Amino acid sequence: MDLDVLTDAFFDGTRLHEGRATIRLRGGRIAAIDRGEPVDDQTARVDARGQLVLPGLVNAHVHIARGGMFEPTEPIGVRQVIANFEGALAAGVTTVGDMGCSAPLARALRAHVAAHPAAGPQLVACGPVLTAPRGYPLDWLPPLLVRLGVALPCGSPDEGARAAAQVARAGMDHVKIAIMHTSYANRPLPAVSPPVARAVVDEAHRLGLRVLAHAHGIADYDVALGAGVDALMHSSFEPLDRDLVARVRDAGIPVCPTLWVFESACLGAELRFDGEPRFASRVTPAIRRSWTRFADAYAASGDVLPPGIAGGAEKTRVKEAIRVAAANLVLLRDAGVPIAFGNDANYGFSLVARPVDELAAMQRAGLSAEECLRAATSGAAALLARPDRGAIAEGKRADLVVVDREAMKDVARLERVREVIAGGRRVSPTRADRARTGAAMVRGLARTALEGLVG
Ligand SMILES: [Zn+2]
Repeated sequence: MDLDVLTDAFFDGTRLHEGRATIRLRGGRIAAIDRGEPVDDQTARVDARGQLVLPGLVNAHVHIARGGMFEPTEPIGVRQVIANFEGALAAGVTTVGDMGCSAPLARALRAHVAAHPAAGPQLVACGPVLTAPRGYPLDWLPPLLVRLGVALPCGSPDEGARAAAQVARAGMDHVKIAIMHTSYANRPLPAVSPPVARAVVDEAHRLGLRVLAHAHGIADYDVALGAGVDALMHSSFEPLDRDLVARVRDAGIPVCPTLWVFESACLGAELRFDGEPRFASRVTPAIRRSWTRFADAYAASGDVLPPGIAGGAEKTRVKEAIRVAAANLVLLRDAGVPIAFGNDANYGFSLVARPVDELAAMQRAGLSAEECLRAATSGAAALLARPDRGAIAEGKRADLVVVDREAMKDVARLERVREVIAGGRRVSPTRADRARTGAAMVRGLARTALEGLVG
């Protein structure tokens, strides 16, 4: 399908271009950007003049099959996954990086959206997370999810290399490794040793895959950088000193800060997002009830977080860690470290359908709106090694989103999305798309059950 997008302001993934232009979409790609307006052309048009055209947003850190309950025992819900797919696209997110999911499920969903771009965002997948035996996230995952292959324990360099090869054989795009010495509940955790991390990275690189590291503290960053990982998937909860910032910069790797998922757990409970339609309308009634249980428990639990992933952690400490994570983001930005957008959704009040919350948190931390938009387009695409998107330029994927012009100054304006184009088509998911997403879920879960851990 051919489509012309008329614009007088577009952000190309790096910078703003003003003045009349026509972005010509042909065969799912951006075929040309012509200055001026089209003449006597029969091609279908989107008139985005007076607004702002962005590349389709890229969310580098999601868990697309997760619903958003606070309880670790949350069951996978087909209805919520369909809502995640539609909600992400409706919010302008045309590509997501899934950072932890069973491999057969990730494959089924990835194939589904590749064939039906109006059904959901394109998926880049890591499959199961590599970690130390009894390491994060095995400290809180329920046994059923462990059996579904969400995490692969590696106790030696050999096991690490084997696990990386297993992820590659399962057809995953990247390898995710968790390196976490202290749990969210502030307890010491077994973490992969430097030789194990190194073996994972060496094998993944030999096989042409990147290694993306879940890391949260100084010790985590140290092991990750020493091993040569390709990205750090969280901002640090501990202050980064000048040397560590320089090491991140010298490694030339991006950081995906994920501020909102932590901030919103406290803020959302205090402000009762469970009763806020902007959030509550995005999830199923079962998840809304989980939010209400969490917010009620939070109100009654004094200075400690109620039971859950971070249960028992002191609220004052958690809030300080969130403040530090935001300050670290600014230190990294100032040092020239590339920043990539990702919000770890759906978990709690952080939703794939609301990229605006993480972007607004990044702007509140001290990034400019333009830096936030860069992180959500070219920055996240670079982290996921997808140079064919995150930019408006000839030859790139025809993924575009039209938003208020003011978003160039205030990313909170991304709350309102006017038009989304995915793979060259205006997005309006149909009942058939929904049914196919549900079918892909069922296929992926069945294969997970049949093929076991990694498939
Ligand atoms: Zn995550």
